[in-house]
Amino acid sequence: MKAAAVYPDKKSLGVVADYPEPKIESPTGVKLRVLNVGVCGTDREIASFLYGTPPEGSEYLVIGHECIAEVVEVGAEVDDVKPGNLVIPMVRRPCDSKECIACRAGRPDFCYTGQYRERGIMKMHGFMTEFVVDEERYMNMVPATIRDVAVLVEPLTIAEKALLQVNQIQARLPWRHRAALVLGAGPVGLLGAMTLAVHGFEVTVYSKDREPNASADIIKAIGGKYISALDNTVEQMAAAIGDIDLVYEATGSSQLAFDVLPLLGPNGIFVLTGVPGHHGPRPFDKDAAMHNMVLKNQCLLGTVNAGKDSFQRAVADLGEFNVRWPKAVRGLITGRFPIDDFAQPIQNQNGIKNIIEIGQ
Ligand SMILES: [Zn+2]
Ligand SMILES: [Zn+2]
Repeated sequence: MKAAAVYPDKKSLGVVADYPEPKIESPTGVKLRVLNVGVCGTDREIASFLYGTPPEGSEYLVIGHECIAEVVEVGAEVDDVKPGNLVIPMVRRPCDSKECIACRAGRPDFCYTGQYRERGIMKMHGFMTEFVVDEERYMNMVPATIRDVAVLVEPLTIAEKALLQVNQIQARLPWRHRAALVLGAGPVGLLGAMTLAVHGFEVTVYSKDREPNASADIIKAIGGKYISALDNTVEQMAAAIGDIDLVYEATGSSQLAFDVLPLLGPNGIFVLTGVPGHHGPRPFDKDAAMHNMVLKNQCLLGTVNAGKDSFQRAVADLGEFNVRWPKAVRGLITGRFPIDDFAQPIQNQNGIKNIIEIGQ
């Protein structure tokens, strides 16, 4: 069977032709036929050999972590998942440390040791292949009504985990003031904008490109506002919004994030989701930042990965997006490639979300 792989030592990408088909080896195991796998910035970084670690003893890492699959077989002790079900497998697996209370509590997304494993990223093969075996507890069922867009569930969990935390922090206020600013109009930004819109925020997206462009069209279709960074400074953009209650950063640009931080409104929350490259130290007005954050009751929050609660909310919200904005959701998927051409969308970023079509 075929699998899309990265060879970190040889610094190359290739399709493994004879990747062994996995068998169910535990009574709680499930076997999946992979339908679609999304490509994202993480895959791009792995394919640039910045990170990504093969499992022990393997010269390659099978990539792919944004997966929708159909269950084809289940172990003797599997209760809820049945053959024919559509599922989204989770990505992160717990570390082995007895002391890691997060992993021991089933929340490796809050792992303390950093020794977790991730399918398609860190010490475990991923999903960009024909069949996969995994454990039932990592499966999240999706209804057939969103089968064609369910590959977006995993990237959507970033916004869902952020919003779960934002809701906890905003619970400190007895009122709701809900002006949200999303930085970036790539897949993470657009899915974040949709999530915030569905949950009652007024959404403005600030991104580079001038209109018209496909991302701006999607934002307007969901009732959001689009502001181009080419024509508006961060100050002009912030003035157009008024008090900003929430910033959802989805660019990975530390420069932009910390240019916008001083513009966060009173009692505001600033969520960082991007992972920047290392560009060396740059000047930053620490006194002004600390002054603002204290006197305005502000919160700066970094968030990564997601728990089962976020996956469940992502499935529910994607269903809601599909009802409200069927065309806009489908507009997020701009390219479809066969597994033999998996390197193409990884090496040449084009459009919004590219996916690899493996099964039907
Ligand atoms: Zn991803
Ligand atoms: Zn852990």
